[in-house]
Parts: sequence; structure tokens; C-alpha cells
Amino acid sequence: MADLLPSVNVILDKEPLVRYDFSQMRNMWELLVYKVLGEMIEKNEICNCQDCVLDTCALALNNLPANYWILGSYDAFTPPETFTENPNNIRLAEEAILKAYRLVQKNPHH
Ligand SMILES: [Zn+2]
Repeated sequence: MADLLPSVNVILDKEPLVRYDFSQMRNMWELLVYKVLGEMIEKNEICNCQDCVLDTCALALNNLPANYWILGSYDAFTPPETFTENPNNIRLAEEAILKAYRLVQKNPHH
């Protein structure tokens, strides 16, 4: 199944995109959702199977606005931690994950 989808690198390794370094571009919500999700798994707050974790993660991210940063260039002015350690952002990530997890548990794939 995964073989049918091109990996991001297959696309980025071709001209003209190969000329640019996209490696520092991050959806900040993605970083925060992974972090919060990891903590919830460690506290046994959600089912830790592959299906539930990925379904919950995808649903949560689909319900949060994309927020891309270019890491490195502006870190001195606005370090990524100003986003990932902002209590309001952490709360929004937790809410999105819990809402997504409740939905996943209504029809779990595990
Ligand atoms: Zn599960």
C-alpha cells in the first residue's frame, strides 16, 4: 500500500525543488501533537496500538490549523518553544487529541 504513494523525498529530489532545502519547514502543530500524544501514551490515557495512535494523530491534526514555521532562520527572534511550550497551544493540542480519540474509539480499527 505504502509503495503506491510517492514519498515526499521522491518529489523533493527532482528539479526544480531539489534546489531548495525544505528540511527545516515544520507544521508546528505536528510537533506539538506528537509531543502531547507521546505523553498520553506513556500515561496509558489512550490505546497504544498503531491504528488508534495514527488515526487519533491524523484526526487531531486535521482539526488543527496548519501552522508552518521555517526552523533555524528566525529561532533567535521566536524560538520554536514559544509555540510548543505555550500553555494555550498545549491545551488546544490536548483537546484536539482527546476529541479525535473519542471519535476513533467509536469505531476503532484495532
Ligand atoms: Zn487501539
